[in-house]
Amino acid sequence: MNTRTKAFPRNMLNKYKLKPCRDNPMIHFLKTAGILLWLLMATQAFAAETCSYNTYTWNTQQKKAVQLQKVIHAYADITTDERDAITGCTVCIEDQVLITLPAIKPFYMCNVFASKVQNMLETFIRSGEQIEEVTGYRVGKTRGDTDIYGNRTQFSNHSYGIAIDINPKHNGLYDQCIEFTDDCRLIRGGPWQPGQDPKSMQINGQIVSTFKDHGYLWGGEIKGQQKDFMHFSITGY
Ligand SMILES: [Zn+2]
Repeated sequence: MNTRTKAFPRNMLNKYKLKPCRDNPMIHFLKTAGILLWLLMATQAFAAETCSYNTYTWNTQQKKAVQLQKVIHAYADITTDERDAITGCTVCIEDQVLITLPAIKPFYMCNVFASKVQNMLETFIRSGEQIEEVTGYRVGKTRGDTDIYGNRTQFSNHSYGIAIDINPKHNGLYDQCIEFTDDCRLIRGGPWQPGQDPKSMQINGQIVSTFKDHGYLWGGEIKGQQKDFMHFSITGY
C-alpha cells in the first residue's frame, strides 16, 4: 500500500494558511484600556505625591531676601496662594519642566507653557536673536502688601513658572519710570538700550511681538512707576 502522503493541494494550503493570532476585539480593547488606565494611575500617583520648593521673602526695609526655606508637603495640601488661580500652575518643582537650549543655562517653566516657550526661544535663536540668559521659575514672595516687618506677602509670577526674564543684563528693571526717560532709576539688571544694544528688547522687535501674539504681557509696558524690560508674563506683571 502506498503510504506516501499525497501532496496537499496548493490552493487548500492558501485556504487554511494560519492567520496571525489576534485577540477578540473586545479583549483587545480591554487590554489596551487596562494599560492606559494603569499608566494614568501611575502618572497621577507619581505627580501627586509631594510639592516641594525653595523660597524666600523680600524684605523692603532691609532690602534683602529673608526667610529662605525649603518647603515640602503633600501635593494634596497645596494652599490657595501656592497655586495660580488663572493658569493652575503651582510653586511646586514637581509641576515645572526643565528647558534646555544651546549656550543658555537651563531653566524651569510651568509644564502648561514649557514646550511653547521652548519653541518660541528656539525660533528666536535660529533667526539670529542674541539670547544669553533666561530665568523662568524662581519662587519668592516679592509682590503685594508688606507686613509690619516689611516682608512682602505674595508670590511673584516667576514663583509659578509663568513668567520669564530674558537678558537681564541688557533689559533692566527701572523704578520712578512712568515714561522711559533718563530720569528712570535702574534698580536691577543692566541698562535698556534698544537699537544700540542687540541684546536689549526692541519695542516692535521679534521677541516682544511674538510673546505678545502668544498672549504674554511685556514688563516694558507696565503702567505705573516700574518698567521691567527683561520680563514677560502670562497673567500680568
Ligand atoms: Zn521677571
